[in-house]
Amino acid sequence: MTHTTLIGLSFDELKTELQSALNIPSYRAQQIWEWIYRFGQTSFDNMTNLPKNLRQDLTDRYTVSRPLISMEQCSLDGTQKWLLQFEDKNEVETVFIPESDRGTLCISSQVGCTLTCTFCHTGTQTLVRNLTASDILHQILVAKDRLNDWGPVTESRKLTNVVLMGMGEPLYNYDNVKKAMLILMDQNGIGFGKRRITLSTSGIIPFIDQCADELGLNLAISLHAVRNDLRNELVPINKKYPVTDLLNACRRYAEKTQNRRITFEYVMLNGINDSTADAKELVQLIKGIPAKINLIPFNPWPGSGYTCSTPENIKKFASIIENAGYMSPIRTPRGQDILAACGQLKSESQRPVKHKVTKAIY
Ligand code: SF4
Repeated sequence: MTHTTLIGLSFDELKTELQSALNIPSYRAQQIWEWIYRFGQTSFDNMTNLPKNLRQDLTDRYTVSRPLISMEQCSLDGTQKWLLQFEDKNEVETVFIPESDRGTLCISSQVGCTLTCTFCHTGTQTLVRNLTASDILHQILVAKDRLNDWGPVTESRKLTNVVLMGMGEPLYNYDNVKKAMLILMDQNGIGFGKRRITLSTSGIIPFIDQCADELGLNLAISLHAVRNDLRNELVPINKKYPVTDLLNACRRYAEKTQNRRITFEYVMLNGINDSTADAKELVQLIKGIPAKINLIPFNPWPGSGYTCSTPENIKKFASIIENAGYMSPIRTPRGQDILAACGQLKSESQRPVKHKVTKAIY
């Protein structure tokens, strides 16, 4: 008998499921929820405040165990990468980046991606499937297990921030991302604040508006170019959602989220998008938006065809932006030795040839 996972059900769904299948009152659902999301328990047997016969009934029907970790790598700089394999054998990568003042987990939202940003390794892997809310949450639960990061909410945590910047376009899997993030933020569970979660998108405008209304997370935009002709090439979804419309959506997002600062990601590609003219145009374009511009030195991957801008050019680019009054940190590449840096993630999962996979909505 296949066991249904309880991970990824909203609290109301969990209550209804347990009530209808086992006639469990809602306070028991609350206890189970806390075991799962506050204590990271992976076995009903250890849920010690539940009666023994209930633990057995739960074990017979359900599971709260984790997916298989098919690979675990640790970089020389402390970055850790896990390759998780789900029941259907599809795999995604999740990366933990420890820093002195925070620990950030970069999670994936899709196996592969429908988009084909030319500088991104994931973009070479076609979409296999959207991750479920359970798959998305499992990346966080596994990281907390491996980091030994469960415990009272009053203690400081190793995992302090989550960024949806791994494999996939999160706004093309919005419903599952939304469900997972609401569970992550539930105060009776992991209790993550929305200011500690950043959603990074290539610019799917209708969902940017929806995300402002429903989640209010930090928003990061994969901008990478300021002119439509170049952005059409680097981030082809720009043909559907061009730069000026995208920046107007950012203005609306900032307004709806009490002027929350928006991060613009800008990968530095030698001779492609790194001229002083590009930097000047960038500051003109984002005028009026509370913004920070993250400059990302390009991380090469096999067959990428681009090279990284020179350190001098990156510094010059940053100083133009800073002189205009915006923060413009240059991201230090992390985990390069284990292909865990930005734009390098990819799994071996392939879309099955015969099986038709529903494409994400355009
Ligand atoms: S940058 Fe993001 S949206 Fe673009 S191909 Fe890579 S994973 Fe997909």
